[in-house]
Amino acid sequence: MHVLVLGAGQLARMMSLAGAPLNIQISAFDVTSENIVHPLTQALLGHGLDNAIEQADVITAEFEHIPHDILDICEASGKFLPSTEAIKIGGDRRLEKALLDKSGVANAKYHVINTKDDFTKAIELVGLPMVLKSTLGGYDGKGQWRLKSQSEADSIWPEIEDCIAESPNQAVVAEAFIPFDREVSLVGVRSIDGTISVYPLAENIHTNGVLSLSAAITDSALQSQAKQMFTKVAETLNYVGVLALEFFDVSGQLLVNEIAPRVHNSGHWTQQGAEVCQFENHLRAVCGLPLGGTNLIRPTAMVNILGEDRLPTGVLKEQACHIHWYGKDKRPGRKMGHINVSASSYFELSEQLLILSEILDEASFPALKSYAIKLSHSDS
Ligand code: AMP
Repeated sequence: MHVLVLGAGQLARMMSLAGAPLNIQISAFDVTSENIVHPLTQALLGHGLDNAIEQADVITAEFEHIPHDILDICEASGKFLPSTEAIKIGGDRRLEKALLDKSGVANAKYHVINTKDDFTKAIELVGLPMVLKSTLGGYDGKGQWRLKSQSEADSIWPEIEDCIAESPNQAVVAEAFIPFDREVSLVGVRSIDGTISVYPLAENIHTNGVLSLSAAITDSALQSQAKQMFTKVAETLNYVGVLALEFFDVSGQLLVNEIAPRVHNSGHWTQQGAEVCQFENHLRAVCGLPLGGTNLIRPTAMVNILGEDRLPTGVLKEQACHIHWYGKDKRPGRKMGHINVSASSYFELSEQLLILSEILDEASFPALKSYAIKLSHSDS
């Protein structure tokens, strides 16, 4: 099987690594340069979308901000999975909110803003405080504003207006501010025949809007709630492949924050912590193969490496740690790789994370120590 991935970043790279043992060959399509590249070496394999499509048995995507003309050509080839509609929805918060409503899953109250009148109406309908998010192009907390009180409304409006004027299809979604206890996500997979299998929930720690740590958790009530919501969304989309749902946990009630129609950063722990990792399961699903197991095999946490291209060798000396570099050039804040830390119990995991926090610089790995301490006090 030959799978073409739209996007040539770390997710295509990890799909390539996971596909090799199954003889699934991956090439990656850079949607900006239109080059076909090897996902590990970035070596040039060819050029042009038609050429890339012709060589592929299946086409999938590693991100949702893909020009629609490219998606439409892929759709016409009949080879694209999960579905170009799912990718378009994932890249547009307006469509995403409509999908959540259609699927009947709880999400934060919202109002779409195109004009000053809509902005006034949003304050009335959604209430304050609120979070304002650009509908297109925003991710990792980019293109977002917080409006806490009516007195700030006049000063924030010019920024919202400028954002809406950026492009004809741009708008802003005003969303109620949710005072959540924590953020969790569910990564799951749906096969061509409609079989659904989900991984254990992950608890996610963000720092400045970017995921810094993600750990598999065991909470059966929350897990079944999340699985029900996952099933509704995946079935509404007639989805095939790995899908991630990000939630706010408010006193044990989940609200969907957003969806990602692809393998997800909060599922990287599955490489060491689950029977079959999210990358392999995505490939199995889109290639029409039976799904692999999604059970937890050992407590595992993932720590993102942001803006660093080397780590102290002490990390590799820790037997619980697996380093996954993405082969990217260093830039401040850039996702450069991740470390998966596994253990035989949650208490041992907390100890391993604490050891790691002593090896690594706290400024670059801000969530590590506090999460280790929190875990050592929990009874999971
Ligand atoms: P997003 O790009 O939607 O994932 O938002 C980035 C981060 O902002 C989330 O991970 C939350 O920590 C926070 N956030 C987003 N929406 C809300 C909301 N409605 N209420 C409270 N916090 C939010």
